[in-house]
Amino acid sequence: RGGEPAKEIPFAKPNSLTKVYAVASGKGGVGKSSITVNLAASLAAMGRKVGVVDADIYGHSVPRMLGVDGRPTKVEDMIMPPAAHDVKVISVGMFTAGNQPVVWRGPMLHRALQQFLADVYWGDLDILLMDLPPGTGDIAISVAQLLPSAEILVVTTPQQAAAEVAERAGAIAAQTHQQVAGVIENMSYLPCPHCGERTEIFGSGGGQTVADALTQTLGARVPLLGQVPIDPRLREGGDTGRPLVLDDPDAEAAKELRTIADKL
Ligand code: ADP
Repeated sequence: RGGEPAKEIPFAKPNSLTKVYAVASGKGGVGKSSITVNLAASLAAMGRKVGVVDADIYGHSVPRMLGVDGRPTKVEDMIMPPAAHDVKVISVGMFTAGNQPVVWRGPMLHRALQQFLADVYWGDLDILLMDLPPGTGDIAISVAQLLPSAEILVVTTPQQAAAEVAERAGAIAAQTHQQVAGVIENMSYLPCPHCGERTEIFGSGGGQTVADALTQTLGARVPLLGQVPIDPRLREGGDTGRPLVLDDPDAEAAKELRTIADKL
């Protein structure tokens, strides 16, 4: 396989109609994957054709969160991605044995990403979401090289310390000449189930801080796309493979996620 020339990436063609978003965060645990799967499920429920590339090498969790239990199959020289809730998914986890940790180096990651984009039969997608590993690692550079037109979505919590790290993840776009489509603040507040009063568990303002800082750095307006509250059912949905946006569409967090999905 080593000597074969790499296949063309359909999304990289100038006439591609697929919008590609790379979902990035400064650090792990801010809800990047949860946001990705809920946006994907929202978009699919709206009738858009959606795919997700789970490129979070060490934290791949998209298949579980979306309830994908199928495996990729091979048809001729293409890989058919399994799907759940009308979302096609390919994950690094589908190509590793069991739950073993992945110790891949930069060039291998690049090659894997290239294959996920070129060798997987995605069909005509409206939107492709890529769940990147946290931080400003090799994979962000690979995305920029393989898909220069991919736009970045930055996920952060409201905490100022987290915002500083998220800002660095977004600022990589200045080097790669990519656009940052917007910032999503997650875990913004906990609404009281009885009176609706909001408790700002992780502080406030982080999302706006990142959006403003990136607007400055990039010289182009980077909007704060939304603020998703804490909802224990969002976590439960991730554990059971039923995204909150489908399971309880009236939940405050679900409504906010739909509003964000509408802007993509
Ligand atoms: P990341 O992809 O950034 O590492 P995850 O999506 O895995 O983060 O989220 C980290 C943890 O926080 C998970 O257990 C997830 O279920 C939970 N979580 C994420 N967002 C929310 C939210 N808005 N409300 C409640 N739990 C959340």
